[in-house]
Amino acid sequence: MANAELKPNLLDLDLADCERLVLGLGFKAFHGRSLFKWIHKHGVVEYDAMTDLSRALRDALRETVEIRLPRIIHDQPSADGTIKWIVELEDGQRIETVFIPEGRRTTVCVSSQVGCALDCSFCATATQGFNRNLTVGEIAGQIWHATRQMGSAPSNVVMMGMGEPLANFDAVVKAMDIMQDDFAYMIAKTRLTLSTSGIVPNIYRLREVSDVSLAVSLHAPNDALRDELVPINRKYPLAELLPACKAYVGSDKRRRITWEYVMLDGINDSLAHAKQMIRLLEGIPSKVNLIPFNPFPGNQYGTSPPERIEAFRARLAGAGIFTMTRKTRGDEIAAACGQLVGRVEDRTRRLGRVAVAIPLNDGVRAGKAATP
Ligand code: SF4
Repeated sequence: MANAELKPNLLDLDLADCERLVLGLGFKAFHGRSLFKWIHKHGVVEYDAMTDLSRALRDALRETVEIRLPRIIHDQPSADGTIKWIVELEDGQRIETVFIPEGRRTTVCVSSQVGCALDCSFCATATQGFNRNLTVGEIAGQIWHATRQMGSAPSNVVMMGMGEPLANFDAVVKAMDIMQDDFAYMIAKTRLTLSTSGIVPNIYRLREVSDVSLAVSLHAPNDALRDELVPINRKYPLAELLPACKAYVGSDKRRRITWEYVMLDGINDSLAHAKQMIRLLEGIPSKVNLIPFNPFPGNQYGTSPPERIEAFRARLAGAGIFTMTRKTRGDEIAAACGQLVGRVEDRTRRLGRVAVAIPLNDGVRAGKAATP
């Protein structure tokens, strides 16, 4: 938690900030680039080991700023190579970061909030409530750790861990800029995916400032069902979400939206639902990921049988929509999608006060209910 006594954390700064900082201290801007590179590219967080910075600059930095990383306090490897790291933040809150190797591709699933306020009914994170947004340093710090743990930067990053990334817009965008920076982790925009449950105004904002790949947690092909499964739909129904996604793709032929669809037994997995999906996605370049549900204690849903998942996939594929059934990775360590719970102290009681947690920038003010 921010503390008035603490010096600013260098992990919160992007390249331009580092250059400005160093200029402000009376040194040349390119030393700011070195500083940024030492931290992110080389993983060095001791000023004295930053050998191309002058002693005077190192002393000035020591006086002015600190480098404070979140801490990995526990790692849980799984038989399939997936590793879940429990990461402790400065205020003792815990989040989870997941590393998923697959051949030459390595993916890190990054959290953006402590808990989540959006209360999706099938999601383990939601059961923990919401505590706070992560800072830039806490988000970028997850990639810092993953890179050091694995010996190289991941090839892919998904903003798909705990939390709704578009509800922590500014910090997430800045952290993603750091991830993409050539002097840091060099994650390609096509390999950096932000996954949202559908905060429509912030999809439009994202289009203005970033060109990362967009995934949307759809989970239902009609409003009645989506209102139940993904309650933010009551505020931003499909009739608003779909045009926002279409606008995000724009005229760029290489872009498409990835739709995440968790398969819940007898709830959203019929061929009638598949038909509705096909109609819904018409005209939007799309890829669909079907996710077999990972049951967790206390949840009412069951996993769709494999043959029903396959029939659903085949129906979408038959309509020309690229559709994959996602392998459930790391489920025995509860690191699969919707299973990240951390240890969160719920301070919001979730959706009833979701406007407090979401800077929506659309006229909704803190304290005013975001749902009807
Ligand atoms: S599915 Fe995502 S948006 Fe919904 S409650 Fe879980 S973490 Fe939040």
